[in-house]
Amino acid sequence: MRVLLIGSGGREHALAVGLSADPAVEELIAAPGNPGIASVATLRDVAAADPAAVAALAVEVGADLVVVGPEAPLVAGVADAVRAKGIACFGPSAAAAQLEGSKAFAKDVMSAAGVPTGRAYTCTTPDEVAAALQEFGPPYVVKNDGLAAGKGVVVTDSLPAATQHAEECGRVVIEEFLDGPEVSLFVVTDGTAAVPLMPAQDFKRVADGDEGPNTGGMGAYAPLPWAPADLVERVMAETVEPTLAEMRKRGTPFAGLLYVGLALTRTGPKVIEFNARFGDPETQVVLALLASPLGELLNAAATGTLAGFPPLRWHDGAAVTVVVASHNYPGTPRTGDVIEGGERPGVIHAGTARREDGALVSAGGRVLSVTATGADLAAARAAAYDLVKGVTLEGSHHRTDIALAAVEGRIQL
Ligand code: AMP
Repeated sequence: MRVLLIGSGGREHALAVGLSADPAVEELIAAPGNPGIASVATLRDVAAADPAAVAALAVEVGADLVVVGPEAPLVAGVADAVRAKGIACFGPSAAAAQLEGSKAFAKDVMSAAGVPTGRAYTCTTPDEVAAALQEFGPPYVVKNDGLAAGKGVVVTDSLPAATQHAEECGRVVIEEFLDGPEVSLFVVTDGTAAVPLMPAQDFKRVADGDEGPNTGGMGAYAPLPWAPADLVERVMAETVEPTLAEMRKRGTPFAGLLYVGLALTRTGPKVIEFNARFGDPETQVVLALLASPLGELLNAAATGTLAGFPPLRWHDGAAVTVVVASHNYPGTPRTGDVIEGGERPGVIHAGTARREDGALVSAGGRVLSVTATGADLAAARAAAYDLVKGVTLEGSHHRTDIALAAVEGRIQL
């Protein structure tokens, strides 16, 4: 199988590592890719969010399967354009990707499907915003309706800060605060059959102790030793199956990766958000533990044959990933700093570039993540932080408490 992978971040580097390890994947081409992905794939240039350009590249390289990593190309209709050329594509149509592209659309689907989630209002005027904030009270949860790279959500006790975020966004979803540990569940689906991967936890806030602003994600680990034994079964029955059924009923089946972000509240798991693609950096840990062939799995979802796919196999043990971010991230990051120790096994590239003289330099906010596995979570965590020590990048920062509460048994349900 000849696979074309679209994207250039850490998620795509992790996908590229997984795809290239699958014997069924004879050739892996990534576009535009990054210097880390270049070690396992042939790179091509492409405007990833341009449906015609991606479809043309898929034809040119003779792809049997296109895997679309990021959300923006999906929302722009890249998967539709690829399929229109008769090429299998892992990733939802533009219509189905609205589950991520619009928080208001996602809320509407959840409501029609009876999915457990926070109560919410979609607001466009200052009066609507004020009324919704008053009804829910603090902590206030204000979400930009459209795509915002994981940074459109403000959770705050400050009424002025909540109001200001709503003003800046224009159209927002204001939601009741959901209290409880967060879980990310990835579900591979062909629109009808659905296969859950291993639940993971990510760390959205920039600083230790969940302090500071939200980011795209600063680290992740799996499995979750504290999660209820029936968690996946329950979320599949209460959330995933009804959502997929509702999308089929609307004539826009969702095929690809349904990312379910959940809060495990006292009254059960409730959806915080849907995404239409693999999460970053949870992908790094989930794929590090997946023993089944990734290319064949994604191809089964892309060709409507997932029901016949053998049960997933997993490696024993645990995985931890720690993100190393640029100076000033999640504000405007400083780029162009030289990275030392960035080309060892376990280092996943996200925002890196190759300078003309060959040096590896930072080129984004989340520069790289280091991923390690171990016999248990404590061992995986220790191995990941050992890897972090081997990376130097001036001005960079990382969290020191990824997976720590889980290792110490401090997560309460
Ligand atoms: P989202 O982009 O919707 O995942 O939101 C980003 C982050 O904001 C989530 O991972 C949560 O940490 C937090 N968040 C979003 N919605 C809520 C909510 N209703 N209650 C509590 N925290 C939330």
